[in-house]
Amino acid sequence: MFIAEPLDQIYWNVRYRLSSHAISQPVIVIPLDNQGSGSTKSSGWTTMEQARLLELVRRQVPRKVVLDARVDTGQSIWGDRALARAIGELGDDFSLVLRNNSVDADSHGEFLFPASSVVPRSRIAISKWNANFIDFATTAPYAVRIDGKSYPTVGPAVAGIRGREGGVYVPDFSLDPDSVPQLPVSKLLNGKFAPGLLTGRTVVISDFGTAGRPIGYFGHGRTPDIALAFAGSEGLRRPFAIVLPRLVLLGLLAVCLALAANARSRREKALFYIAACGVTFVLPAILVEFGILSFTDQLLATMAIYGSIRLWQKWRRRVQHTSASGLPNLLSLTSKQIEVGRDVVVAVIARYEEILATLPKELHGECARQIARRLSVGSGRSEIYNGDGGHFAWTEEARPLEMQLNHLEGLRALFSAPLQIGEHTFDTNIHFGLDRNEGVDALARVNSALASANEALTSGRSIELFEAARLAEAPWELSLHARIDEGLRNGDIWLAFQPQWDFAEKRFCGAEALIRWNHPTRGPIAPDAFILQAERAGRIDALTFWVLEEAITAALEINALGPRFQMSINLSAQMVDKPNLVSNIAEVVQRRGIDPSLLTIEVTETSSVHNRPAARHNLSQLRALGFRLSIDDFGTGEASLSYLAELPSDELKIDRRFVSRITTAERERAIVAYTIALAHDLHQEVVAEGIEDEATLQLLMELGCDYAQGYYLGKPQSFADFIQTYRRSADIQIGIV
Ligand code: C2E
Ligand code: CA
Ligand code: CA
Repeated sequence: MFIAEPLDQIYWNVRYRLSSHAISQPVIVIPLDNQGSGSTKSSGWTTMEQARLLELVRRQVPRKVVLDARVDTGQSIWGDRALARAIGELGDDFSLVLRNNSVDADSHGEFLFPASSVVPRSRIAISKWNANFIDFATTAPYAVRIDGKSYPTVGPAVAGIRGREGGVYVPDFSLDPDSVPQLPVSKLLNGKFAPGLLTGRTVVISDFGTAGRPIGYFGHGRTPDIALAFAGSEGLRRPFAIVLPRLVLLGLLAVCLALAANARSRREKALFYIAACGVTFVLPAILVEFGILSFTDQLLATMAIYGSIRLWQKWRRRVQHTSASGLPNLLSLTSKQIEVGRDVVVAVIARYEEILATLPKELHGECARQIARRLSVGSGRSEIYNGDGGHFAWTEEARPLEMQLNHLEGLRALFSAPLQIGEHTFDTNIHFGLDRNEGVDALARVNSALASANEALTSGRSIELFEAARLAEAPWELSLHARIDEGLRNGDIWLAFQPQWDFAEKRFCGAEALIRWNHPTRGPIAPDAFILQAERAGRIDALTFWVLEEAITAALEINALGPRFQMSINLSAQMVDKPNLVSNIAEVVQRRGIDPSLLTIEVTETSSVHNRPAARHNLSQLRALGFRLSIDDFGTGEASLSYLAELPSDELKIDRRFVSRITTAERERAIVAYTIALAHDLHQEVVAEGIEDEATLQLLMELGCDYAQGYYLGKPQSFADFIQTYRRSADIQIGIV
């Protein structure tokens, strides 16, 4: 792993620098310079001069003498003889260091052996080191074989131990090479040194300052190779001399990391991580104290790679999880493949920031989780993604549009119950953005659902549809304006009437006007969906006023038949706060000559209208003109108690979600019963909608409800059908009376 070797280099540099220490053995160096002899020869010192130096040193009774210099035999017979004699007198206590002068460290051919009659072969030590990729010494052999004969290397020679052939040992690079004491050669020659300075020491006479190739010494840069001899002899005092196979520590590290990855507790995990760091950073440094060398490059590389992977994973988790709630965030939904046949829904909680502002910080996550729980219960999806600012996203089975809108409306009802977080209670309101663009990538889909949800929030609508394949639908969208006008003209758009029953008078007393669109190619379009589209296409005014005109026509006709007949129309939330609303409506009723009290205006969702004061003002004015006001879908989402307190009204319409269950569910029955009582206390009349059977109708009568509406009494139908059944029922009624 060549790329990792620099890591090893850095590691050992730091390690040896940190543990730097002075030499512990009795060693002294006598450096040779070129001038000392006065000779002009490049080698500096003649054999005669070298003999004299050895003689001077011997008199001081050293432990051992090492001559680390070039010996030029064959220049002077007398010199050679003198040197041979001096070496002979030192006997076993003398070594001559031979250096490889070749640049190629592996070559053995470059050693210049002096005449063996002067220096016996048994007195020769070889300077030889194993080095790493940038020529820093790592280990040294005990011995070197040259021309079939084995020679010890300098480390063992300086340490005075016998080399074993074949093995390697690890020098101690913590040794500070500058800590080796020196005696200048001039002082030796003049006798100017403390008596006993050389006694009992290993005296190394070396020309290291002027010859030899510098070599890398961990923690100390490049040094003359004789410095390594001291590191070598220091290292040889250790108990072992082993180079550990790479796999040993690597295996140990792998075990630690695997245990950390599978740890059962945080503490356990931390423990194994510490162990892994120990194996990587501390263990090699400890082992080398005992002379056991291990290579750290692969350990460090493994830790570096493992560390970066964990950091990256952590970052991804951070990015993909909203930290407070621990729920996955929107980004993680966009990075997924959205399954085929699913719509993307984004829900946004109105005034979420305000809710959070009143909550202590540690409950913020709980708030998001509680909302997510409701959504997941309602949608049957376990993964709810949580974005900033009260956005929640998930995917829904792509049902037909009308069903999907109904389903989301149902989800909305789940939020009519307040959120209970700690000791705090919040009324919430939820808006949805829906994306049905299958085949587009997840990011685009989540974004369009998000944008639609925000649109729904600002416009106050409950659901905003990012229309199925907006691009493909563009012609339809663009021409919707024209199509609505065309539909109104040719009768594709028509008004249905659903009868309302008066419990007290036991007769049909009114109807709700409900818009219908039978599109020639698309078939019937659900009113919620196309009202949503009409709002977006800016045609809602035209539609509303068309409905008003048609409903007035019908109301006038039926009222002409006899008893008082009340006509209800729905007012879109989009329109309630429009500045011209009241004057425009007043103009119509005046022109048509109808008594406004025959008309009931049903409103819902007003709390999410842009301009609430304007809406309140408009509604009060309409009431002052004589219109009846009805609160539609009471009990769901925003048509709640605060609304009842705030807005002027005459009637309350209990949503069919409650009504349809009163015969089976105790709770709903209680809710409806109390709502009726409450409404009566506030001088409101009560309409129950969505009555589908006799039992429900019967029960509502017993509960004191005023009016009833539902499929059991009559489905929304054309005016022609309606007037026929109305006449018949009126006849029956008259017959009974
Ligand atoms: P809404 O005002 O709550 O209207 C009552 C809805 O309940 C109608 O759905 C009606 O057909 C349905 N319904 C009545 N009785 C029963 C029953 O016994 N069982 C069941 N399952 N459903 C019953 P529709 O006609 O699909 O209208 C849906 C919504 O579209 C309306 O809800 C209203 O919000 C809106 N809408 C309809 N016409 C107009 C209009 O002219 N203007 C405006 N702004 N909105 C309209
Ligand atoms: Ca209605
Ligand atoms: Ca309703």
